[in-house]
Amino acid sequence: MTSIQADNYSIHFNAEAYKHLNSYLNTVKFSKIFVIVDSNTHDYCLPKFLANVETEVTIEIIEIEAGEIHKNIETCVGVWEALAELDADRKALIINLGGGVVTDLGGFVACTYKRGISYLNVPTSLLAMVDASVGGKTGVDLGVLKNQVGVINSGEMVLIDTSFLQTLPDIQMLSGLAEMLKHGLIYSRNYWNKFNDWTLKNFDELDALIYESVQIKYDIVTEDPFENDRRKSLNFGHTLGHAVESFYLTNPSKRELLHGEAIAAGIILECFISYKLAEFSKKDLDEVVSIITRLYQKVEINSNEYNPIIELLKHDKKNSYGNINFVLLENIGSPKLDCKVENNLIVEAFDFYNNCYK
Ligand code: NAD
Ligand code: ZN
Repeated sequence: MTSIQADNYSIHFNAEAYKHLNSYLNTVKFSKIFVIVDSNTHDYCLPKFLANVETEVTIEIIEIEAGEIHKNIETCVGVWEALAELDADRKALIINLGGGVVTDLGGFVACTYKRGISYLNVPTSLLAMVDASVGGKTGVDLGVLKNQVGVINSGEMVLIDTSFLQTLPDIQMLSGLAEMLKHGLIYSRNYWNKFNDWTLKNFDELDALIYESVQIKYDIVTEDPFENDRRKSLNFGHTLGHAVESFYLTNPSKRELLHGEAIAAGIILECFISYKLAEFSKKDLDEVVSIITRLYQKVEINSNEYNPIIELLKHDKKNSYGNINFVLLENIGSPKLDCKVENNLIVEAFDFYNNCYK
């Protein structure tokens, strides 16, 4: 697969990725290399990664606990302290080897340690490959509020080795798949159509689908790196998806909900609102519902939970001047930005979602 080359960073795939990494490590003389892993990628991904790295430079490993609840400033403090204890100077390199938690947190740590040192991402989950590791958004959560503190900085390169996915649990695959579906919905009907009868078992086609998804995300963020316009479309499914995700996080009685599961629900909710407000056709709505309900289990949202979830929209990062801004769809592939939505329509959307699974 051909590399994707930007002005200030590049994305490389599979065997080529290690060639680029090794030549980069031999060209830029780093003082030390720090690989940030979580407890899972330490066991499943680190041995393979290290076996492919050729460098004389000392490599240190910094491990964080796995899971979104550790994507916070306390974990950053632990990593900053570990870097200081291990004599990381301004010529050190951080390599984030993990899912979106490691790439988001590790990127933020790198951008802030000594006012910023070099870093690169080696995403190991599907979600991190097609989404989190591309586009330069780094950061951590503040309590239950997602990604409230962070910076935008793309790092030096992204190395995507799809063979890491062999050990990723199915449910995590589904989590990443939601972002790929979103990419089709906001950017390309042709790409979306490829998921019509696709299942997680179609491994042969996965590499090409990942490549195309990365290309879509890359194209969008390159055109609008600071989210003034087109980049906002990537938030499709995320306004209500994030609110549902936060609601589940704050309620101990709820099961663990993965980001992509919440986004899959958010996609149906926001497609319904698009149908009501943005001329999205009933036929397209039915198609979206059919694909999502085939791939994803229902996210339980009782009617007495609608209002508390709507309350959480106040914290959405896309809000400006007190307004909640939705991305809607006019067609598959054509987003409509900055739409205002009344609360009663959101309630109707939750009812619609609940009926999709009956
Ligand atoms: P994650 O990093 O928690 O990874 C999911 C789980 O899979 C973890 O338990 C992890 O240890 C494990 N894992 C990762 N790779 C593995 C492998 N190859 N084999 C076995 N287990 C493996 O979560 P995620 O779904 O990768 O990412 C979610 C995070 O990404 C969220 O915090 C979200 O906010 C963030 N995100 C960021 C952006 C962005 O633009 N920066 C975009 C989307 C999502
Ligand atoms: Zn997402």
